[in-house]
Amino acid sequence: MPAHLIDGRALAAKVRDEVAAEVEGLGHVGLATVLVGDDPASHVYINLKQKHAREAGIDARDLKLPAETTEAELLATIDELNADDAVDGVLVQLPLPDHLDEARVIEAIDPRKDIDGIHPYSAGCLYLGRPTLVPGTPLGIMRMLAEYEIETSGARAVVVGRSAIVGKPMAHLLLQANATVTICHSRTEDLERHTLDADILVAAVGRLHLIGADMVKAGATVIDVGMNRTEDGLFGDVDPDAMELAAYMTPVPGGVGPMTIAMVLKNTATAARVRRGLVSGIS
Ligand code: NDP
Repeated sequence: MPAHLIDGRALAAKVRDEVAAEVEGLGHVGLATVLVGDDPASHVYINLKQKHAREAGIDARDLKLPAETTEAELLATIDELNADDAVDGVLVQLPLPDHLDEARVIEAIDPRKDIDGIHPYSAGCLYLGRPTLVPGTPLGIMRMLAEYEIETSGARAVVVGRSAIVGKPMAHLLLQANATVTICHSRTEDLERHTLDADILVAAVGRLHLIGADMVKAGATVIDVGMNRTEDGLFGDVDPDAMELAAYMTPVPGGVGPMTIAMVLKNTATAARVRRGLVSGIS
């Protein structure tokens, strides 16, 4: 029986409604996005984040800095935003131009305002299983699993990809949710031996249809994070034919992508609640 599609667009709209209600209750929630340079894809992402943030009632500041911005200038901008009480979340769009040290810039963000969950403090808390701000993509995937009542406890989860923004936090969240987790990467031998074992398979690689339909276990839940742009459109890392075998599967587009932005907004509201002392830990 073909898989049930996990509707990321519908769920993202629901999350944005939740954020709007949360923001209304808080009175004021502030977000500042910082974009350096002219990368066209980054402009699209930032404009979308700005649009959705404003629609949710978030006071969204849109800082666009020239490509030749120096590291000292960028760090000074981040310092100002850290010190600004009206700003609850600071989002620096990656990748940065080559002359800027990404690690140093990320470390400059106040961890309490780190709504992308990429500061080493946030990553360390996640590793330790403490409440913290978590990157939007894996957080959105956990929400999808919860919403579709997909059991994680005791499930065999395989995450393909080990980036700091998707693969690693995904693996930690699944581990926290009591899955038995395997992480695969470019040096993994015999990838299908692992993927075929997965009750929950998360593909976060960025290689068109790397996961063939014959690499998916019957009845599995397949989460396709991949975004591969071709002349024919946007495609994932998983061959859509896997839909015939899987129990649940995310489409590309319309799956994980919309959830990522919605969860970053959710993180902004969460950061605001934490800064106001309304919650002791981050949920
Ligand atoms: P990275 O390039 O940072 O990481 C890719 C990972 O895939 C690496 O860990 C790499 O291994 C692994 N990999 C590469 N080739 C293979 C292979 N042949 N077999 C197994 N593993 C392999 O990418 P990101 O994590 O940032 O993004 C992954 C994909 O997800 C991209 O398509 C990106 O566009 C998309 N994305 C989508 C988002 C959304 O909202 N939908 C959000 C973020 C990302 P190694 O570490 O060994 O190099």
